[in-house]
Amino acid sequence: MVFRHSKRCYIALLLCLLILYQQPRAQVQTPPADTSATEKADNADKAALYQAVLDLTNPWTVMCVAAHPDDEDGSTLTVLRRKYGIHTVSLFSTFGEGGQNAVGPELYEELGVIRARETIAASQVQGSEPHFLGFRDFGFSKSAEETFRAWGEKELLRRMVLQIRTLRPDAIITNHDTTSGHGHHQATGRMILQAFDAAADPKQFPEQLSQVGTWQVQRLFVRSRGGETSTGTPQAISIDPNETDPIRGTTFAQQALSGLQKHATQGPWPKTVPPSGARVIRYSLVKQATSAAPLPENAKTPVDGLRLPEQVAAKLVAPTIDDKPLTQFFDRRLELLVSLLSARRRGVFTPPKEIFDLDPQRFTLMASRLNKAVAAVTGAAVYLSSAGSELVPGEEAKLEAIVANAGIAEIQIKQVTFRGLGSELKVETADKMPPGTEVSADVKVTTPKTYGLTVPSSEHLYDGRLFGEPLNLEAELMVEGTTFVVENETRRDIVPQVEIVDVRPSPYVTTPATSQKPLDFQVRVQSHVKTDFRGLLRVSGPSLETGHDINLSPKGAETSNLVVRPLSLAGQIQGSSLAVTVDLPVPKEPVAKRTVPLVYADAVVVSGRKVGYIPSYDATLERSLAALGVDAKKLSVDDIAKSDLTPYHTIIIDNRGYEAHPELVAANSRLLKFVEDGGTLVVFYHRLNEFKSQYAPYPITLGNERVTEEDAPVTFLQPRHPLLNFPNKITQKDFADWVQERGLYFPKEWDPRYTAILATSDRGEPALKGGILVAPYGKGNYIYTSLVWYRQLRDGNPGGYRFFANLISYGRRKED
Ligand SMILES: [Zn+2]
Repeated sequence: MVFRHSKRCYIALLLCLLILYQQPRAQVQTPPADTSATEKADNADKAALYQAVLDLTNPWTVMCVAAHPDDEDGSTLTVLRRKYGIHTVSLFSTFGEGGQNAVGPELYEELGVIRARETIAASQVQGSEPHFLGFRDFGFSKSAEETFRAWGEKELLRRMVLQIRTLRPDAIITNHDTTSGHGHHQATGRMILQAFDAAADPKQFPEQLSQVGTWQVQRLFVRSRGGETSTGTPQAISIDPNETDPIRGTTFAQQALSGLQKHATQGPWPKTVPPSGARVIRYSLVKQATSAAPLPENAKTPVDGLRLPEQVAAKLVAPTIDDKPLTQFFDRRLELLVSLLSARRRGVFTPPKEIFDLDPQRFTLMASRLNKAVAAVTGAAVYLSSAGSELVPGEEAKLEAIVANAGIAEIQIKQVTFRGLGSELKVETADKMPPGTEVSADVKVTTPKTYGLTVPSSEHLYDGRLFGEPLNLEAELMVEGTTFVVENETRRDIVPQVEIVDVRPSPYVTTPATSQKPLDFQVRVQSHVKTDFRGLLRVSGPSLETGHDINLSPKGAETSNLVVRPLSLAGQIQGSSLAVTVDLPVPKEPVAKRTVPLVYADAVVVSGRKVGYIPSYDATLERSLAALGVDAKKLSVDDIAKSDLTPYHTIIIDNRGYEAHPELVAANSRLLKFVEDGGTLVVFYHRLNEFKSQYAPYPITLGNERVTEEDAPVTFLQPRHPLLNFPNKITQKDFADWVQERGLYFPKEWDPRYTAILATSDRGEPALKGGILVAPYGKGNYIYTSLVWYRQLRDGNPGGYRFFANLISYGRRKED
């Protein structure tokens, strides 16, 4: 049937839908909900519908390029999408795994997994689409050159070019310039300038051209900072995020801040936008295509004034109602429905092939936006239920495909297709859904035995399988004779039958005080199979082996202790490792395996020392003190404030302790009293804003200097000082094989009563002498150290343990 859009049939359809709308909706099973929740959901629904029709008015794509999660310009991304409907994508060089963790114990690849997820959550708030280049974040770097050496300059260009050719942005914005800040920022900022040209050049990376075409970005903007205002000049744009979003009722700056707060591991973030408003963001145009239209004066977005070829533009005109934009009708659902169905029928955004081929990506994007708008207005959705969320190779997974109709018109289901795990299946469902109902059907699919695992996620940070295996559900639906498609992609992890979720401690560190003791592990295993699992948990290594049976109920988990008495001891185990495996009763290949490095550190603590410690974010202090065989007790802030501290010889405040435990500030006088009475207080590094000079007995002012080269030379300023000699004689060897960096936020000024023990600096930079400051106070001693001991202890660096033992042992014993 040819359904032509005319005034008469418009009215007929309207009437028919109105009747439908007013029918009692018997099939609706609305759960009783409190009105505020319903209202909230209703508002979210309205906002989604508004966004979907706004998106039809803007065919441009803007890409924001950033080195790390949280470097993206969330404010601009939010404004561009939420106010103008621009398609926004963000591109990150790394996952930010080299940073610190402000909320939990995870570091390195485990931190990268969390930051990738935080970035996705932030992107959802901004309305942007995140993509990752997947370079390793090896920690703070001071130069672009060091970054290029680590990543490969050409490889960085290659990956950027591929993303530009795939995502086809019309304009690129970046917070990073080429000369200042973190080396990763400089390298990213510098290379995107080259990628701008290279993506359009068929001679560059021609092997990519079998997958993607060349692409000419029109404009590239770099964030301009500093006081000089460039507004009004034709070469700049200003973005003011302080306007209130009429649909969501908050300012774009507030929305952007709530996006930023999703980067929780990088906090703490401000809780509110300052009353005076957020800063206006300025960008300078630094590059443009020769064919690009000039940037108009007072341009409000990076794409203002850009033009598409006439034939293309003519096919990208957004549908309207009586020549008014659809956004004006977002709360008049029925009229919107009629208009969008009509647009879909008329083939809006789906031009004949010869025009489509002029700009296929843009037409595909806009057609998919129209599909989404139709889905939003009809209330249609598809999804795979989350029950039994993991996939085991060789096992059949039963997934539930759901097609829902939350709208006001009946929806016919033409076809539902599942794609994933190498299969494409037609899903049999009912063929229609009255308003307010949903249909579901089982999808049975076997995960091929050949499919590799995607857990632990931290081992898949760089291979593209970080988020698991994609499963796609697509439904071809019809309302009032008009077909449209809704689809949804979910990701599921591919897991072994039984997974070793955690082994601790790892690495396993022993010292002279503990090397005679049996090794004591805690191993957590989790079954992913639907039947009972019987097997053997085994640990084996150089001249040792032990194990015990495990019985796991379906999907059950168990934590067990494995105690191993090694046959060979002490120095002999240095550099070797243990294998922890789960075996079937008849051993074949292990079902799961983890490797635990063994470390022997020749580090001793003066005998009889009693240590109290306040951990911040992880168990490094606890494990390191156990490895040293020290009598140690974890202290709470309450213990510091109220309990008797005289039994302790040394108290250690973990890195960023005053940030992790803000109440500690109020109890600080007790810590200083502890020192005065003869104790040794060791305070690990803090950030600038986390540590106030008065927390120390004599002033210490932190600076922003870092030593980022983990092999930076170290000079002993006080070679005869006890901290370098007792009980462990510290040599250059103890500073070998450090990880990540030497130290952060080195003090820039300190009271002359402190003694500086050593100096270090990145090559070619002035020596920093504040890495370890020690001063007598009363009968005791205060030590502030900005070296990254926790990273070395956590990593099992023997030198780190030896110096740590000296810090603990410092100061006279009270009974002396
Ligand atoms: Zn950064």
